[in-house]
Amino acid sequence: MAPGVNACKEFQPHLTMSDYDMSKSKHNAKSSSPLTKSNSDFGGKHGSNSKNGVHDLLECPSCKNLMYPPIYQCPNGHTLCSNCKTRVHSRCPTCHFDLGNIRCLALEKVAESLELPCRYQSLGCHDIFACYTKLKHEPNCRFRPYNCPYAGSECSVMGNIPTLVSHLKDDHKVDMHDGCTFNHRYVKSNPHEVENATWMLTVFNCFGRHFCLHFEAFQIGTAPVYMAFLRFMGDDDEAKRFSYSLEVGANGRRLIWQGIPRSIRDSHKNVRDNQDGLVIQRKLALCFSGGGGQELKLRITGRIWKEE
Ligand SMILES: [Zn+2]
Ligand SMILES: [Zn+2]
Ligand SMILES: [Zn+2]
Ligand SMILES: [Zn+2]
Repeated sequence: MAPGVNACKEFQPHLTMSDYDMSKSKHNAKSSSPLTKSNSDFGGKHGSNSKNGVHDLLECPSCKNLMYPPIYQCPNGHTLCSNCKTRVHSRCPTCHFDLGNIRCLALEKVAESLELPCRYQSLGCHDIFACYTKLKHEPNCRFRPYNCPYAGSECSVMGNIPTLVSHLKDDHKVDMHDGCTFNHRYVKSNPHEVENATWMLTVFNCFGRHFCLHFEAFQIGTAPVYMAFLRFMGDDDEAKRFSYSLEVGANGRRLIWQGIPRSIRDSHKNVRDNQDGLVIQRKLALCFSGGGGQELKLRITGRIWKEE
C-alpha cells in the first residue's frame, strides 16, 4: 500500500490496533500474562503492521508517543511533540537546529482527523475517539484491567475480574466462599508481632459478584491495631450499591462496623490509611481472644447485602 492521498483512509484499520504504546502490552500478553486467554486481541492481529504509514508520521521521533496538536517542526522539517519541545529546550533532537515556533499544521490536521478505538477494545470498550480524547479516556476507561487485590506481596498481575479470581485462587491460595454471610476465625500465636503479621484475604462470591475480605495487623502511630474490611471486585459505581457489616466480640463486649465496600480500583493502602473498616485496638482484640493475651483468637462475623 503506497502512501498517498488515501493513506489516511487506507491505514485506518491498521491504526485501530496500532496504538502507540500497545506494543509493550502486546509482547507481555504473548508470554505468561493472564490477559493472554481472554484478550488474545489485546494488541491485535494488525499489531505487526503498526510501524508504517500515518502512524509512523504521528509518532514523535523523540519520545515515540502519539503526537497531537500542537505539533512542531524545525526549519528542516523534523517534527516533534509539544512535550518534547519543552524538554529539548527548543533544539531539534534530529538536526540540532533551533526549533523556533513553527507548527506543522498539515500533520495536526491528520492527527485531528483520526478516530481511534480505545486500547481496551478487546476487553469490551467500543468507544471511538479523536486521539487527544483517547489519551484522556484510557486511564479512566472502565474496561481497563484491574490490579491484583492481594495485599501481602507486591503482585503485578493485572486482568479482568474472572482472571483475577482464578489468579487469587491458584497463585495466592486464597480461600473462596459462596454466600453473603460469613463467620471467620483469625488465630495468631504471637499477637505481639504486629510488623510481621500475615495478611489474610478471603474471597466471597454472592449476588453474582466477588468481594475481598481483608484482615491485617499494622500500627497507627505507635498503637498496634487489627483491621478488617471488604473490597468489591468491580468498579466504584457498582461497589456503592452494596453494604456490609462486620462484628467482633466476646465476654459481653461487641464492636460492630457497617460500611460500603470500596472498589479494588482504590488502592489497598488508601483503604487502610483512611481506616475505612473495622479497626480493633490490640488490647481489646486480646480481651476478645480470652486466654490471658497469649494468643489472638478473633471471631468475625459479617454480612453483605445489596441496597435497593
Ligand atoms: Zn515527544
Ligand atoms: Zn531538525
Ligand atoms: Zn475505553
Ligand atoms: Zn496477585
